[in-house]
Amino acid sequence: MLVNLKTMLSNIDKKAVGSFNIYSYETIHGVCKAVESTKKPAIISFGASYLKNMSFSTVKYIVDEATKNIDVDVALHLDHCGDMDIIKAAIDAGFTSVMYDGSALPFDDNVKNSRAIANMAHSKGVSVEAELGSLALGEYSNETDIDHGQAYTDPENAAEFVNMTGVDALAVSIGTVHGMYKAKPNIRVDILKNIKQNVSIPLVLHGGSGTPEEKIIECIQNGIKKINVNTEISQYTVKKIAEQIYNDPNTHLSKLTLLQSDFVSSVVEKYIKLFSCEN
Ligand SMILES: [Zn+2]
Repeated sequence: MLVNLKTMLSNIDKKAVGSFNIYSYETIHGVCKAVESTKKPAIISFGASYLKNMSFSTVKYIVDEATKNIDVDVALHLDHCGDMDIIKAAIDAGFTSVMYDGSALPFDDNVKNSRAIANMAHSKGVSVEAELGSLALGEYSNETDIDHGQAYTDPENAAEFVNMTGVDALAVSIGTVHGMYKAKPNIRVDILKNIKQNVSIPLVLHGGSGTPEEKIIECIQNGIKKINVNTEISQYTVKKIAEQIYNDPNTHLSKLTLLQSDFVSSVVEKYIKLFSCEN
């Protein structure tokens, strides 16, 4: 069933929920298939940069169809967005949470805009994620072309930001990158621990792809409740599709679209199980 992000994250303890980027019927079904097989919650995440692929209302329609017989929590989330009109359009289409990304702005402007979005979204029962600090750009990222550089989240600023904005979840910058790592990851769990001491709302980790599993577990133990994964889903699926075409150049397109969902599902399932911390 579709729930908002705040409800979903308040229903879990000592685990995290994966936020998986989708851009097509096949990718939505890949995520839903993994939710059905694991019987664990997930966030279906759609970025405004994929509006070339699908409209908000089309995404909502397919998600409604795909989740109507699933009885675990699923949230429909707008990923990174700095445009108020686009955020409003996602809310109007029925998305259950939105991310306002003002991380490149001065602190006061980020506070002002995040608070305005939170007021607007909350009046419609929609949850809001905001971001403080910025992630460096890794390889093969499809989130953004702009590298704002690594700026770790300041724990004291984080507390002030959360109090002033009333947002439901906070994305933090502790060393993960958008895309795949160019060098050995240096995840600053010490900074995360300080943020956690100052902030009581759920914390969000972007740049899950390629992050060492033991670091992910450590982050979950220290307050991370939502983890975004995008690049690895795309890379794995494209690699497997390429292998299929190489092995059988006459593969029918209808079979390829089904295979796409299966490949997406296998990566998503791996992460859902990892984030649930049950092993
Ligand atoms: Zn991100």
